[in-house]
Amino acid sequence: MLDYKESLKQHGLKNSKQRNLLIKLLSNADGIMTAEEIYLALKKQEEKINLSTVYRILEAFVEKGLVVKSTFPSSNTCVFTLKHLEHSHHLICLKCKKTVSLPHCPLKEFEHSIEKETNFNITDHNLELYGYCNNCK
Ligand SMILES: [Zn+2]
Ligand SMILES: [Zn+2]
Repeated sequence: MLDYKESLKQHGLKNSKQRNLLIKLLSNADGIMTAEEIYLALKKQEEKINLSTVYRILEAFVEKGLVVKSTFPSSNTCVFTLKHLEHSHHLICLKCKKTVSLPHCPLKEFEHSIEKETNFNITDHNLELYGYCNNCK
């Protein structure tokens, strides 16, 4: 179980009710959410919040590496998800936004060969696979 307050502190962010609510929401969300969806869900708990505040909090979280922002390839929709503590990759349904974790990272070997070829020291990567789940295809 992730301690939200602790993880805010670890990322150098001050606690606030709105930040806490947003993290809690994303960690309970079964998958990924757009800023508008986050805003509507938060508004049920915190009437004073507005969409630009949600964007501001999200940008701060993305900057600190607490939240991952991705863009759906075809529609330019921005979606947000809590960064997983362990390194992982996901299948994401473009319609219902269901996500499924891949059982292992397929890029480790690839990274090693790229490091050899380019002399880069690779420290991280993102990989998400988009498509339609069994219910939506
Ligand atoms: Zn689906
Ligand atoms: Zn990986």
